[in-house]
Amino acid sequence: MAQSFPDSARAVVIGGGVIGCSVAFHLAKHGWRDVVLLEQGRLTCGTTWHAAGLVGQLRAHQNMTRLVQYSASLYQSLEAETGQATGWKQCGSILVARTPERMTLFRRIHAAARAQGVACEIISIGEAARKYPVMRTEDLLGALWLPDDAKVNPADVTQALAKGARQNGARIFEQTRVTAIQQKDGVATGVSTTRGDVRAEVVINCAGQWAKAVGRLAGVTVPLHSAEHMYIVTGRIDGVHPDLPVLRDPDGYIYVKEEVGGLLMGGFEPVAKPWAMDGIPENFEFGMLPDDWDQFQVLMENALIRLPALETAEIKTFMNGPESFTPDNNFIMGEAPELKNFFVAAGFNSIGIASGGGAGRALAEWIMQGEPTLDLWPVDIRRFARFHDNDRFLKERVSEVLGLHYMMPWPNRELQSARPLRRSPLYDRLDAQHGLFGSKMGFERPNFFAPSKAEARIDYSWGRQNWFPHAAAEHKATREAVTITDLTSFVKFFVQGRDAEGLLQRLCANDVAVPVGSTVYTGLLNARGTYESDLTVARLAADRFLLVTGTAQATRDADWIRRNIGAANATLTDITSAYAVIAVMGPRARDLLALLTRAPLDNAAFPFGAIREIGIAHATVLASRRTYVGELGWELYVPTEYAGAVYDALMETGAELGARNAGYYAVESLRLEKGFRAWGRELTPDYNPYEAGLSFAVKFDKGDFIGRDALVAARAKPPTRRLLSFVATSPDTPIAHGGELILRDGAPAGEITSAAYGHTVGGIVALGFVTTGGARADDAWLAARFEIDIAGERVPVRASLKAPYDPAGSRMKG
Ligand SMILES: Cc1cc2nc3c(=O)[nH]c(=O)nc-3n(C[C@H](O)[C@H](O)[C@H](O)COP(=O)(O)OP(=O)(O)OC[C@H]3O[C@@H](n4cnc5c(N)ncnc54)[C@H](O)[C@@H]3O)c2cc1C
Repeated sequence: MAQSFPDSARAVVIGGGVIGCSVAFHLAKHGWRDVVLLEQGRLTCGTTWHAAGLVGQLRAHQNMTRLVQYSASLYQSLEAETGQATGWKQCGSILVARTPERMTLFRRIHAAARAQGVACEIISIGEAARKYPVMRTEDLLGALWLPDDAKVNPADVTQALAKGARQNGARIFEQTRVTAIQQKDGVATGVSTTRGDVRAEVVINCAGQWAKAVGRLAGVTVPLHSAEHMYIVTGRIDGVHPDLPVLRDPDGYIYVKEEVGGLLMGGFEPVAKPWAMDGIPENFEFGMLPDDWDQFQVLMENALIRLPALETAEIKTFMNGPESFTPDNNFIMGEAPELKNFFVAAGFNSIGIASGGGAGRALAEWIMQGEPTLDLWPVDIRRFARFHDNDRFLKERVSEVLGLHYMMPWPNRELQSARPLRRSPLYDRLDAQHGLFGSKMGFERPNFFAPSKAEARIDYSWGRQNWFPHAAAEHKATREAVTITDLTSFVKFFVQGRDAEGLLQRLCANDVAVPVGSTVYTGLLNARGTYESDLTVARLAADRFLLVTGTAQATRDADWIRRNIGAANATLTDITSAYAVIAVMGPRARDLLALLTRAPLDNAAFPFGAIREIGIAHATVLASRRTYVGELGWELYVPTEYAGAVYDALMETGAELGARNAGYYAVESLRLEKGFRAWGRELTPDYNPYEAGLSFAVKFDKGDFIGRDALVAARAKPPTRRLLSFVATSPDTPIAHGGELILRDGAPAGEITSAAYGHTVGGIVALGFVTTGGARADDAWLAARFEIDIAGERVPVRASLKAPYDPAGSRMKG
């Protein structure tokens, strides 16, 4: 019997690909009644139907790995639950290395797999050849074996999820296109469709490569762009059988999978081919794009090197289908900051089948609980801003992004497309002094300064990169004299209004009811007592606060604060573009500023933590006595158009004091010596202040705040994980980059979150969480044998709860 089309639902899911079906399945399975899925064509007809079906489990971020691990367990059990097969086959996968650098990466991956609990082995060429007899191996240096990797049939997985969703009460309507998103007062209230309107509490955009257009119907930024993605399928080849593992040869950009006794070979070419610049054509149901052997050539050439049998094999299919890619090669999930109750799960960058089960569950939990239940920051929709939705930006960026899958993930790797975009007023001055810029949130930020234009580049490697001596000199100058750093990309908000103090007291774990002219470092916590953000709050007036937060957190923090304003008389305004930020840091900082201002700068008049308006040369600026590098210093908040004049005065006057520019690489090594934490690495929604060692910034006696109850409970027992500082000072120690496995008495105990070379301590400085099993992290516990695994080499490290450099903080308060 045909189902009648509903005029209301609790949740409307837009899109019947693997993602939409997974979200509907998980909502229904968790007991949500009235889940309706709308598909403009037929299920799987977008990108899902022609996916290769590889399920590779190990990802760069632990929680992304967990999502795929869950997908794997779900796809194995779906047939028993629904009666619909998924084509699940745990065939394992082999990665092969053509270069020594790739082998170093494999050794790093091998250690990371241990930290993340994924089975992984480094195997010999002989063993790889035994597992994959049709592969040519003479040119290879080694291989990696992931026995739990698998392959599935994407269309069958999707049909199984759809069947499971229906069995749990969801309703699915095909041939039904969503044409408008209804909203009222900033809240999504339903959709208009080709079959009528449907009111809904929650609308979920799982429209794949159409998700950008569906987002635009609602005024929501969904930055993705289609690119062509191709593979071929051959006829039968001798020696190819269904149990053959998946093969990846990333130096040749290719992947290979058995398909009906032949081989399916595709890949990620270094320069991709964006598609549908003017929008996706109407009626692209089960659509394919024309064969493009020119674009495919680089993959074919490499495949012929690896698989001689392809020379003579019959090519049965050339599959060219579009997939959507995002500005950073990670997918997009979460509630849109622009529209309440409007959720997005799209832009899966060619891993939508592998991630589908886990992403569907994670989004369903986010919808049901109002916030993500684990740290999903790498894929959180709030890591983007409006400019990411620009079509030209997206087109240029995805040309570069598709190839990232198999390109070497070098430490400090920077994307090059669509740059330079956001520029501080100091950009041209710093560029003229041979600054090498990195890009964050579209902002150009100086990473280091080279002695000549020719040396302002990064030569990527796993060891010491070419900029090491330049950053070392900047580091040293900050510890011994004074440096100037352009921190303009810091995000700045004004929070103003009669209830501003009350609002911030509720949001912050620290006490921000401080006198005018004071600053406070604080975490913003969720109800679980874990971090949503960390930032500095400066009180400028009884009813006006300046909040300063990290470059990447603009959308996320504004969203978190705004959604908690409720009925309070308070507003948030992003004033990032109104102020440049110039940091003046080092033991001579006071001497330098004293030459340019009449304002008193001594500890009595201008103590650590104070913020004052002062004159600098001909300009009036806000000077905040705080530091992220652990030295005496001030951050100057300078109205944008005065920034050049202030910078010139500081550099000219500072010359005699040894002042020089410093970039973000120096800031990184300086902050790690001081044990300062960074959002997204040490501070995430997975950790609370006790685990992160920041209980000093939690004030219970100030009254209630978000996360208080959870922290009261957490305080009662020792944390099961602790953030520790690590130092290794042996002269032949290799360079650590973050992501390394931590071992305690020989057993895996955690992962390094940040690492650098500390030029003052003379060795590696790093931070990382270690599981304690509830033991107190006292001296005896810390005295255990700690090591970190750097590409297979176990490096002994000293562990401590305290900062390796100036733990008492006397230098910054001096
Ligand atoms: C050649 C190729 C090989 C791949 N291989 C793999 C692989 O091996 N492993 C892997 O994990 N991933 C792979 N992928 C990626 C994977 O296919 C995608 O990430 C995944 O299918 C995306 O699923 P989705 O549900 O987001 O999008 P889609 O499958 O495109 O689903 C979105 C649906 O939304 C519908 N829709 C759009 N607009 C509307 C509207 N207004 N109203 C109603 N419905 C609408 C569309 O019709 C479509 O059916 C591959 C992709 C390609 C192109």
